[in-house]
Amino acid sequence: MGKHHKVNRWEKYSDEGESDSKMCPRCQSMLAVHSNRETCGNCGYSKIEK
Ligand SMILES: [Zn+2]
Repeated sequence: MGKHHKVNRWEKYSDEGESDSKMCPRCQSMLAVHSNRETCGNCGYSKIEK
């Protein structure tokens, strides 16, 4: 009861994750980057790279 739980704060991802994370141009959510395409799980945006 008297224990204080550590509050999870929103921290920026480490530098190594920065390069992989792209933002959706529609809703600014993080895109899921696949080998040849990027998809947004939030709004359904998808971009296929040839
Ligand atoms: Zn989106």
